[in-house]
Amino acid sequence: MPNRRLLLAHLIQEAHSFNPYVMSHAQCQLHEGDASIARLRGTNTVAGGVIDMAEQAGVEVVCPIDMRFGAGGRVEHSIYEYFKNVVVEAAAAGTYDAIVLALHGAMMTTELDDPEADLMQAVRSVVGPHVPITAGFDLHAHVTEHTIAECDYLTAFQTNPHIDMGETGHRLFAKTMDIINGEFEPVCAYIHFPMLTLGNDRHDQEPLFSLYERSRAAEATGRVVDSSIFTVQQFLDIENVGQTILVYGNGIHSEAMAFAEELATGLWGARDSLRETFADLDQQILRAKSAEQKRALILGDQGDRVAGGGLGDSTHILKRVLELAPEIKAAIPITDPAAMAALRQHAVGDVVTLSVGGGMSGFFEPVTVTGELVRISENERYTRRGPSGAGLSEPTGPFAVVRVGAIDIVLTELPCYYIDPNNFVVMGIEPQLYDIVVTRSGYHYTMNFAEAGECVVVQTPGMTSYQVENLPFKRARPIYPLDDIAYKPQRAIRRRNGVPGHPAA
Ligand SMILES: [Zn+2]
Repeated sequence: MPNRRLLLAHLIQEAHSFNPYVMSHAQCQLHEGDASIARLRGTNTVAGGVIDMAEQAGVEVVCPIDMRFGAGGRVEHSIYEYFKNVVVEAAAAGTYDAIVLALHGAMMTTELDDPEADLMQAVRSVVGPHVPITAGFDLHAHVTEHTIAECDYLTAFQTNPHIDMGETGHRLFAKTMDIINGEFEPVCAYIHFPMLTLGNDRHDQEPLFSLYERSRAAEATGRVVDSSIFTVQQFLDIENVGQTILVYGNGIHSEAMAFAEELATGLWGARDSLRETFADLDQQILRAKSAEQKRALILGDQGDRVAGGGLGDSTHILKRVLELAPEIKAAIPITDPAAMAALRQHAVGDVVTLSVGGGMSGFFEPVTVTGELVRISENERYTRRGPSGAGLSEPTGPFAVVRVGAIDIVLTELPCYYIDPNNFVVMGIEPQLYDIVVTRSGYHYTMNFAEAGECVVVQTPGMTSYQVENLPFKRARPIYPLDDIAYKPQRAIRRRNGVPGHPAA
């Protein structure tokens, strides 16, 4: 077998339409050249999974760029353009057997609603019709016919909370090699319909559990090669948002489309049960206060999840703790660049009075507190314990801790999601020693904090609340559950090498 070469690129950002803050260089972690592979190797990411498998198989991987943002508003378009140019230049300059894109899939820039489709088109324009372009996305990706128009094979995570990013990379590598070696002629059955899932969408609970079981069974028996369910980032107010099913057959599409239809009707049929009701905040605060509660309660602030694209400036939980149980030991993070600027004028040990939170999203009232500045730093780095993102090194950005009685208010200049306990540990906060720790994640933190305490997601207001009726959706409509609509999916068949398919009836 000749020596194989893959071009790999890694770009992660999840957009939120109602977050007005444009993401810029300050929120971008960028690695180029050899530093990209060094950073990604061995990590539980799609790119890490591809690199690990390729190196085991003796396949050369070139990864010219690794760009990563958290979730948030749109990304400054020039930053995306920079990424695209690096990838396109690399693709044009080298001889590669395939181009492999590890992307989140729900990015938006200040100019584009669907940069993933734009990227694939740009890569295709330099590699020509025959070089496979393959991709691995988060299952919250926004996947339309434009996304798959130039993509020969696209696969999604199969877990939510996400734990199988590395495995997704392994599958992506294996299928890419099968395409290169002529063993897999991907024919994609695509079904898309306007619907949102709202919280009851874990892979290990019904109704999605059964759909995933059917997918794995259909793959195991060889009925289909691969199937993905994209349940989409819920806060994209753009055209054509919704659920996407992709099922791949090898050379033929009939079973792939039949199975895609099964998954799609199963998902649509379960629509009313995909909405979650979260725990009552006041009850959790009272639990934390009671003598019976021995472990830390790690509360996911459902309405203001930075991991879902929120700003993290909510004071909702802080206010309730101050009212109901000011004596408990709590760690509550709040994004507040103005408070950070004020705190830079002070030294550790100073007693400060300042207004915190509520300054960015417009959803929350600020709270004035008086406390001791116990920690201030311009940046620290921590490595995620995982399992979500295990091994990834991340910066905290500027932060300060102000102690108000027993409550540690963690102020940051930029939104932080606190998916991993080490984010707190590097700030001097050991989560298991607290009564309440608030995170700005609703899914992934429950895995990473499982040893530190009892994880409970609480019903709270904000721009990442699944009470979507309270959000100003316009362009995404009509969409379930905001509108009373019938099941009328878009269907398409896509074949490799630009051979036109037959849109199914
Ligand atoms: Zn996701």
